[in-house]
Amino acid sequence: MKVLVAVKRVVDYNVKVRPKSDGTGVDLNNVKMAINPFCEIAIEEAVRLKEKGVVTEIVAVSIGAKVSQEQIRTALALGADRGILVETDVEVQPLAIAKLLKAVCDKEQPQMVILGKQAIDGDNNQTGQMLAALTGMSQGTFASEVVVDGDSVTVTREVDSGSQVVKLSLPAVITTDLRLNEPRYASLPNIMKAKKKPMDVMTPEELGVDVTPRVTTLKVEPPAERQAGIKVADVAELVDKLKNEAKVI
Ligand code: AMP
Repeated sequence: MKVLVAVKRVVDYNVKVRPKSDGTGVDLNNVKMAINPFCEIAIEEAVRLKEKGVVTEIVAVSIGAKVSQEQIRTALALGADRGILVETDVEVQPLAIAKLLKAVCDKEQPQMVILGKQAIDGDNNQTGQMLAALTGMSQGTFASEVVVDGDSVTVTREVDSGSQVVKLSLPAVITTDLRLNEPRYASLPNIMKAKKKPMDVMTPEELGVDVTPRVTTLKVEPPAERQAGIKVADVAELVDKLKNEAKVI
């Protein structure tokens, strides 16, 4: 069984991001970039399925600028077999990402596509659902457990009220939630080996997809700064301040 894993290059989750001074976006100058954490979970799940003998090939796909090769190499070091970079300098939005992934699926015919439930930069939480809709594949989103059985896959989903178990026929799109697994670290020998693994590069034009953005970001600004708190001497002073200064009671 072939699995496609979508990996996005995002600002590392440890970085405190700042808007650009003109408010047109997030300042990415000299900022550490990494694989989106939910995509790491997606790779780990594919690798575990391969280790169980369920999956035979893992293809890591990323869409973005040439530098996204770094994240594909990391995915290869973590256990993916080959990579595909859809190279573009346009900041591609979820619908176009889903269309590009569909075009890659049409070529590769995977039995399963695993994506993160969301990318931590845009927090869109849209791509997997759109890909399932465009391809007609079944979808199991927010997965916390994935069990493949023949030509179906049982997915436990994290939902507001607890968990929901769904059985999907393959091919299927799965999006990962935090509790699905704990990703491994890439070992040095595997990082070295990953350098020799194949990586194809293609463009949105070659895949016949128009990636022109449909949504315009008007402004990016930091959250309002919180004012410093104060200590009150007793409950009476607290009530007085809530009543007469904050005017909330
Ligand atoms: P989003 O819908 O933007 O929150 O992203 C959800 C998931 O879609 C991510 O975790 C990735 O698996 C996939 N994805 C989004 N953007 C890209 C991209 N540029 N390249 C590869 N995969 C992506």
